[in-house]
Amino acid sequence: MTNVFEKIIAGELPAEKVFENERIVAIKDINPAAPIHLLIIPKKSIEGIHMIREEDLPLIGECVKVAQQLADRYEISDGYRLLTNNGAKAGQTIFHLHFHLLGGRKLGVMG
Ligand code: 5GP
Repeated sequence: MTNVFEKIIAGELPAEKVFENERIVAIKDINPAAPIHLLIIPKKSIEGIHMIREEDLPLIGECVKVAQQLADRYEISDGYRLLTNNGAKAGQTIFHLHFHLLGGRKLGVMG
């Protein structure tokens, strides 16, 4: 079954893209939890961080690099959070790996 992010990657669903290359797309979250709330999404179909394999590690590293670049562009490099939820119990709602980049306000310990 195709999920929302796979539809966005395929161009079947609109999204406000802030970065894209052959391997990764980054979009604005539709329901932002902070003034800056971006989602960094590898295009490869990986369910979540627990399903990452050795061969995916360069792609994950590239996601971190994209996060750094976006943090600079959005001027939040002095304080941001990069997180991923793995599994429904952790709050994952879309089962295609993505990293939340949050910033633009003082962030609480975990929220
Ligand atoms: P999760 O709960 O899986 O960690 O994160 C999913 C995120 O995707 C949520 O923050 C939610 O607001 C966002 N989201 C869900 N549907 C859409 C959509 O259609 N477009 C965009 N841009 N974000 C979405």
